Amino acid sequence: MSKENTQNLFQEIISHCKEYGFIFPSSEIYDGLSAVYDYGPYGIELKNNIQQYWWKSMVQLHENIVGIDAAIFMHPKTWKASGHVDAFNDPLIDNKDSKKRYRADVLIEEAMQKQEAKIEKEVEKAQKRFGDTFDKEMFLKTNPNVLRVREKVDATEARFKAALEANDLAEIKQIIVDLEIVCPVSGTRNWTDVRQFNLMFATEMGSLAEDSNTIYLRPETAQGIFVNFLNVMNTSRQRIPFGIAQVGKAFRNEIVARQFIFRTREFEQMEMQFFVRPGEQKKWYEYWKEARLKWHRTLGFKETELKYKDHLKTAHYADAAVDIEFEFPFGFKEMEGIHSRTNYDLTQHQNMSGKKLQYFDPELNESYIPYVVETSVGLNRTFLALMCSGYKNEKLEDGSERVVLALPAFLAPVKIGVFPLVKKDGLPEKAREIFDVLKFDHQCFYDEKDSIGKRYRRQDALGTPFCITVDHDTLVDNMVTIRDRDTMLQERISIEKLKEVVNAKVDWRRR
Ligand code: ATP
Repeated sequence: MSKENTQNLFQEIISHCKEYGFIFPSSEIYDGLSAVYDYGPYGIELKNNIQQYWWKSMVQLHENIVGIDAAIFMHPKTWKASGHVDAFNDPLIDNKDSKKRYRADVLIEEAMQKQEAKIEKEVEKAQKRFGDTFDKEMFLKTNPNVLRVREKVDATEARFKAALEANDLAEIKQIIVDLEIVCPVSGTRNWTDVRQFNLMFATEMGSLAEDSNTIYLRPETAQGIFVNFLNVMNTSRQRIPFGIAQVGKAFRNEIVARQFIFRTREFEQMEMQFFVRPGEQKKWYEYWKEARLKWHRTLGFKETELKYKDHLKTAHYADAAVDIEFEFPFGFKEMEGIHSRTNYDLTQHQNMSGKKLQYFDPELNESYIPYVVETSVGLNRTFLALMCSGYKNEKLEDGSERVVLALPAFLAPVKIGVFPLVKKDGLPEKAREIFDVLKFDHQCFYDEKDSIGKRYRRQDALGTPFCITVDHDTLVDNMVTIRDRDTMLQERISIEKLKEVVNAKVDWRRR
């Protein structure tokens, strides 16, 4: 798909989210607040379903993972200990002509992606030219154009990595200059120097009359887990290796918040910190890396829509890190991070608090500060990925079109639409009877307005996997029509069997 087409598709998805009550701009009657969004009636259902599925997969299915819900506000020393006060920065750069602000690292990454896209184009062209005889591996190794671009990308990547590691802001600026990156708004290369910008939101706790204290809105949920390590260990009878899971809001004053809900200043994370014996972190890192990719695959994403990306520079606390990326319409981007966080956080908190954050290992007969492997996935980004993957504008055989949201049935905001064929002859009463039974198990939607075709289309656009229609025959034979969103096939089944059939179709255990 061309860049323009993917851009149009993304705009369509954003409009769809608003039109069908998934996502609204925040405080819209006041013209909205930049990069802040509210979830509407169907958005909250989908978001809750993703969250619950994650919770079940991590906590319910793992005897050795327990959950917590820590407060957003935390003692300010937490953020000093974790390193966020001193090192939670992004490098920013301004264009002097447009006055627009950018993340310097993102500008460079995007420039490198553009180069990578050139290689993809060369491959596509050659594939067309050579047809079945095309040997992609050989082509990538030998084609002079590809080799030239590859050399350039590799050189830039090495330079960029070194600059990030050395925290060399002048060099980062120089890379932007050397790559001849222009501001997308002004089209000029009139850049300021690169500066570091701390991403934490600060606020005051307590009234002015009291001793007021600067506190931060948490930029990650993880620290709420670390500071509760002892409490959880002492109350849950867990033995290492074990994990603590949490879902909650996090706040980052992102330099550039954009791409709809992909990058916002307020968002939700689903995190799990897995505490392991020192020396076993590599094994568990590999384990969770694989397990988490498998989890994403259960959300119905295509094989080609997901990939791993190793970090160029690991964070100050990590000894290994990888992202699981999803192919959004604007390119492959991070959806989840898996980090081997060493014993950095617990050690820092032990030093800062003076409390021993150790585990006595009865098998080894010794105490140690556990190592930690973290899995951290964005709830909103997973939501967006599902929307992007599921949204389809289909041309039907009869020439008509339909918009369908092919969400996995177990995550769909509404599971079943229940319709009387017409609004008379006792059909609404019969349909309501069915609705009143199913509603105890599932989010259902009763609808008697408009033609049956229009009602089906509306549920297709919401991602409702099944619709049930009550017609005149139902009153005689106690059978209803059940229609499948994806195949649009209709089947008649008896009302008695309905509950069993629907339960089976939307069961999360089928993943
Ligand atoms: P990025 O490189 O995109 O800024 P990150 O590497 O800083 O992300 P992590 O600190 O690893 O992100 O956070 C874990 C997850 O939280 C990310 O994979 C992402 O899904 C989510 N996340 C992080 N920042 C945001 C944001 N500003 N808006 C929405 N989700 C976010």
